[in-house]
Amino acid sequence: MIIDGKKEAALLREEIKKEILLLKEKTKKVPGLSVILIGDFTPSQIYVKNKEKNSKEVGINSEVIKYPKDITEQEVLNKIKELNNNPEVSGILVQLPLPKHINKEKIINAIHPKKDVDGFNPINVGNLASGYDAIIPCTPLGCLYLIKKIEKNLSGKHAVIIGRSNLNGKPMAQLLLRENCTVTIVHSKTKDLKAECQKADILVAAVGKANLVKGDWVKKDSIIIDVGINKVEEKIVGDVDFESVKEKVKAITPVPGGVGPMTIACLLKNTLECFKAR
Ligand code: NAP
Repeated sequence: MIIDGKKEAALLREEIKKEILLLKEKTKKVPGLSVILIGDFTPSQIYVKNKEKNSKEVGINSEVIKYPKDITEQEVLNKIKELNNNPEVSGILVQLPLPKHINKEKIINAIHPKKDVDGFNPINVGNLASGYDAIIPCTPLGCLYLIKKIEKNLSGKHAVIIGRSNLNGKPMAQLLLRENCTVTIVHSKTKDLKAECQKADILVAAVGKANLVKGDWVKKDSIIIDVGINKVEEKIVGDVDFESVKEKVKAITPVPGGVGPMTIACLLKNTLECFKAR
């Protein structure tokens, strides 16, 4: 089965839109999302435009605050402080990557944990790791959503995650642990990557290496989630060699059209949850 991320994301957006309409009738308010975009890096501009379009479609009040690449760190921190104190703003997102002179950690730490729709603030990271309520990073949240569409009960499944980034691999591992999976994280220093992947009932690839996972790396009837986005000769491909893997497994996400659309839908979901929590 090829998992249709576009369709699942559209369904999730529809649910979010309905809930926002109901909340608007009750409270006369809608969620607000403020996105800070620094510089003119084209992929960031495209991501932010998509986020803004999708937000507006579901009824989120979305604003993009654009700064030139030579903006000072202090000016950005001041803006975050202002947004933290603004009751109309439910969620704040600072689009990464940032220019070199701006300290990413300082910026992420400055966002109020209850408005941190990306789930990158250490408070949310710690809460997730401790099993408390947390805002969960959008891509792993979207991956879990897709996995659970295929298999509701993940208890006892062996999940292998390739990649240990704060953005993807680590929160994905925490989420699957919470679902009672036995979790293995593999990375660039892992001795026998193929042998580890072969044990996986659920394999999540978040690496950034085109077609790394081959057909003989995967277990029969497993679930494969491909987070990777790689450009090969003007084509976008994932970390999984889709053609050699797809016949062997129970379900697989394509690239594009798999995890990507879910990431934005989960950002909208996080914004709605932040609004509700306030
Ligand atoms: P990252 O921070 O560069 O982390 C990559 C991870 O992969 C690291 O842990 C690294 O290991 C590991 N790795 C690198 N080469 C490896 C190899 N040959 N074998 C095993 N492990 C290897 O990347 P990221 O931010 O997590 O992103 C990963 C991919 O997901 C990228 O292609 C990115 O574009 C994509 N992405 C997609 C979405 C989406 O919505 N679909 C969202 C975010 C990111 P070490 O830690 O040992 O270096």
